Amino acid sequence: MTRKGPGIERKSEEELALMRQAGRIVGEVLAMMREKAEPGVSTGQLDAVAEEIIRDYGAVPAFKGYPHSGHNDFPASICSSINEEIVHGIPSADRVLNEGDIISIDVGAIHGGFYGDAAVTLPIGEVDEETQRLLRVTNEALAAGIAQAGDGNHLWNVIRAIQSCVERNGFNVLHAYQGHGIGRLMHEKPDIPNFLGERGQRPKNYALQQGVTMALEPMVVVGEWHTRVLDDGWTVVTADGKRSAHFEHTIAVTDGEAEILTRW
Ligand code: MG
Repeated sequence: MTRKGPGIERKSEEELALMRQAGRIVGEVLAMMREKAEPGVSTGQLDAVAEEIIRDYGAVPAFKGYPHSGHNDFPASICSSINEEIVHGIPSADRVLNEGDIISIDVGAIHGGFYGDAAVTLPIGEVDEETQRLLRVTNEALAAGIAQAGDGNHLWNVIRAIQSCVERNGFNVLHAYQGHGIGRLMHEKPDIPNFLGERGQRPKNYALQQGVTMALEPMVVVGEWHTRVLDDGWTVVTADGKRSAHFEHTIAVTDGEAEILTRW
């Protein structure tokens, strides 16, 4: 069954131009993270580099100060999540990257009143074959979702494309965390889970329309999808301790192929 809006905001051309700028800043940060992330570098150092780029543009790090009831606000400009950490890891001068690790870096920036949000998982030096496959498949799942985000297509097609790419490669998508609409707020309608659950628990199957902007973000695990949050209140890890990857882009639905606003 298809339900059309209301509830998903469509951005005007002027608003999309502002989102492009925010997205470009995020993309530049991720490109720099790829250059800097290597053995011996701390996640605190990466965070400092990211914040400097964002502020040099006159933009604001979107994650810094993000509130969390019962815990401290998020203290940094990037989320840095290593190996079995999935998302929302807190950068630290004490957390140093080692050969064979993987690091997921999530970046958000606010510029001109609009948000950009994107993430990548990077290998640190040489990683094992399964890990290489995990990164490749997660990136392919994101691309598969983006390929379905055309004008007139439906949200479930996007979700199905992500989920089926992951599952046919023998991995699993997380259940507890999801993508989202984005614009003047980091999290707007619609919610975009990476799987279609039981009937009755699925998101609305919105028809996507030109001007809709979304952050698609497959979070993929080698093992089971169960998660827990560390005592810092933020860092999400796999319950089974196995590795996880996270790729994300902010995109806009156009009359042709979806436009990636955070390309890098
Ligand atoms: Mg996001």
